[in-house]
Amino acid sequence: MILVTGGAGFIGANFVIDWLAQSDEPVLNLDKLTYAGNLDNLRVLEGDARHLFVRGDIGDATLLSRLLTEHRPRAVVNFAAESHVDRSIHGPGAFIETNIVATWRLLDAVRAYLATLDAAERAAFRFLHVSTDEVYGSLEASDAPFAETNPYQPNSPYSASKAASDHLVRAWHHTFGVPVLTTNCSNNYGPLQFPEKLIPLVIHNALAGKPLPIYGDGSNVRDWLYVGDHCAAIRRVLAAGRVGETYNIGGRNEMSNLQVVHTVCDLLDRHAPRAQGGSYREQIVFVTDRPGHDRRYAINADKIAAELGWQPAETFGSGIEKTVRWYLDHADWVANVTSGAYREWTERQYGAG
Ligand code: NAD
Repeated sequence: MILVTGGAGFIGANFVIDWLAQSDEPVLNLDKLTYAGNLDNLRVLEGDARHLFVRGDIGDATLLSRLLTEHRPRAVVNFAAESHVDRSIHGPGAFIETNIVATWRLLDAVRAYLATLDAAERAAFRFLHVSTDEVYGSLEASDAPFAETNPYQPNSPYSASKAASDHLVRAWHHTFGVPVLTTNCSNNYGPLQFPEKLIPLVIHNALAGKPLPIYGDGSNVRDWLYVGDHCAAIRRVLAAGRVGETYNIGGRNEMSNLQVVHTVCDLLDRHAPRAQGGSYREQIVFVTDRPGHDRRYAINADKIAAELGWQPAETFGSGIEKTVRWYLDHADWVANVTSGAYREWTERQYGAG
């Protein structure tokens, strides 16, 4: 069994579904079900005995100790985090609590659990921490992409909190011998992404006839990684990554935000033409830039390619086509998320979190 944290969120849910499609090894899924956690994401696993969902906080030491002792996982994959930069600007507290303090508690619980394992189990155990390329700061157009050796220069409360968690993970390896792996990836996109993030937001607003807001002049550049490629990379790192190492994961797709939005609009024009005619591009509006908005992120993913043989399978063209089609085919999922219906259901099922 593996323990996945944050497995009701965007990437975590994709990872759990992919994992169980490829292997029979059960998953214990621990998620607090914050606004970003959505059990609807896991509906395809209903009735699947290999998936055990527990609502809880990675900062709850008592719960962690019980779950680890009871289920004896051979690995932890830590996705649980507050993940949205804009929210971290308006309210950094939750980012400090979860991404730093609760990650520390999780690491300590794993450290205590390791002491209960025999030598062979301890040698096989892995703690994989999922992090972001934003810890490396911002690049100029002429700079080389981020390598694992780049210094950490986080600029937002979100990236600073993730940087802190990466440092804790590193320290728990060097000081206490926890067998860790860290991955730093670029912007993910794909099915099941909460519509506060750029691509699902644009799809949702476009279809609803609302403005498509773009920060500044839209020239900020990001690398885009299809979530299925990210999940495959994490499986590779978990299976064969060297303990204590960091692996950058990117999609080899550097694009400006404006290019991304244009691509989405053009696909929607093709697959769901506007009733009144014209292009969804007409709904684009430029809004005041986010404070401290990093100019450019780009990933050098040579290490994971050379050491572990991982390459992204999707180009941006193929991944975004799949993504747009998925949102068009899952209007019920989008409606549930945007109406908050899934929250009401969660609260009926588990009580207010
Ligand atoms: P998300 O916000 O969609 O999901 C986060 C999940 O964690 C939610 O289900 C939430 O309920 C859960 N959670 C939050 N606090 C928790 C806590 N204290 N205890 C237990 N569960 C908790 O995030 P995501 O986009 O799926 O990102 C997953 C991970 O990948 C995060 O660590 C994020 O920093 C990292 N990451 C994301 C991206 C991206 O583009 N989305 C890029 C790089 C790195």
